[in-house]
Amino acid sequence: MALTPYPASDFPAQPAALITGAASERGIGRATAHRLASQGWAVAVMDLDAPASEAVARDVAAQHGVPTLGLGVDISDEQQVIDAVARIDAELPQLVGVVNNAGISSPTPFTEVSTEEWKRVFDVNVHGTFFVTREAVKLFRRHSLGRIVNVSSASAERGGGVYGRAAYSGSKAALLGFAKTWARELGEYGITANSVAPGSIDTDIMGGRLSDERKEILLQELPVGRVGTVEDVAGAIGYLLGRDGGYLTGVTLDVNGGSHIH
Ligand code: NAD
Repeated sequence: MALTPYPASDFPAQPAALITGAASERGIGRATAHRLASQGWAVAVMDLDAPASEAVARDVAAQHGVPTLGLGVDISDEQQVIDAVARIDAELPQLVGVVNNAGISSPTPFTEVSTEEWKRVFDVNVHGTFFVTREAVKLFRRHSLGRIVNVSSASAERGGGVYGRAAYSGSKAALLGFAKTWARELGEYGITANSVAPGSIDTDIMGGRLSDERKEILLQELPVGRVGTVEDVAGAIGYLLGRDGGYLTGVTLDVNGGSHIH
């Protein structure tokens, strides 16, 4: 199999990136949208709520002067994803990046988790990522250029985490496997695929800010001596997506402050 060379000159002057789950106010996705836009990327924001996604898109455009598009999409709905990616293709510059960031957590112990909860976690975290990536890859193949980043979790690597139990950890571990397989399978189309595995980041995924007590417990396990920020994760994603990231594929970047070293 002849691998396509991947010269930096193939990168368009203004690439576009699609970021799922980018509407939440203090979330990793929104920070990533701003980070990429500050590096010149056009940005598509996908999240459940259309007005919230459109508002983030407007804000990113106003702050960074790049084309943006905000879309209300439930990524677990195949047809909604197909329609949304078609709009991105029609309305934004060449799609080069996809950040599979949308996700839901499941703190329920394995012996108590319902079938309904288990399926919903996999519908969003796993099947949603599949739908989005499949549609994005169709566009990437036109130009033999694409960058995929899955937002997994330290929970997938260490057997559960602060918030995640089996459904969450299992779904996030699936993303690590997908990225590695895509790296092998899609390399010949000029596509790289990687993951980030954040540790505890101070967002609202569990419905609010980290309590001081929770922070204190976390700090005891953190060699860097502080809880992670959304900018820490956005920076790693920006690197993997950008021009300088083209020789990394199948990699998992542990953005965890050293809480899990392996
Ligand atoms: P968040 O809750 O702020 O953001 C998640 C976003 O995903 C929300 O805006 C939500 O509306 C969106 N979303 C949920 N279901 C969706 C669906 N079906 N379709 C479209 N959008 C949907 O949380 P966050 O902490 O910013 O999480 C972002 C990602 O990072 C998640 O995948 C999460 O699992 C992962 N992560 C977070 C941490 C952490 O400590 N915060 C650690 C490791 C991994």
